[in-house]
Amino acid sequence: MQPVRKDLDAVYERWPAESSGGMGAIEDLRNWLKEIPLWQELGKVPERVTAVEKRLAELEAKLQPAPGKRCDGCGHLSLRLESSRVVGSEAQKYTKLKWKCENCGKGFEERKCTPHQERA
Ligand SMILES: [Zn+2]
Repeated sequence: MQPVRKDLDAVYERWPAESSGGMGAIEDLRNWLKEIPLWQELGKVPERVTAVEKRLAELEAKLQPAPGKRCDGCGHLSLRLESSRVVGSEAQKYTKLKWKCENCGKGFEERKCTPHQERA
């Protein structure tokens, strides 16, 4: 807090010599404070806090899970991938996907051709 002490000392030193007294003294004090770098920085704090809050809200929104696939059972976007594994022979491989609905609990299986098989 040394810079604060230094700034305040500067105000005290100038106060009796330049003050006009009464309400003018308060105005003088305000004008002096405006010249102090730390005081100028403090004036920018609300703007910076608002910017940080906006960025934080954007990051929090990104952390929310994306909606799942539509469930054929209940229609909700609650279908989540439970497991995924490659099965089949070397000549005919495919990926077996297991989906489960977080809303109604129904499970679904899906077979997906692997890129290798699509090219062949
Ligand atoms: Zn469902």
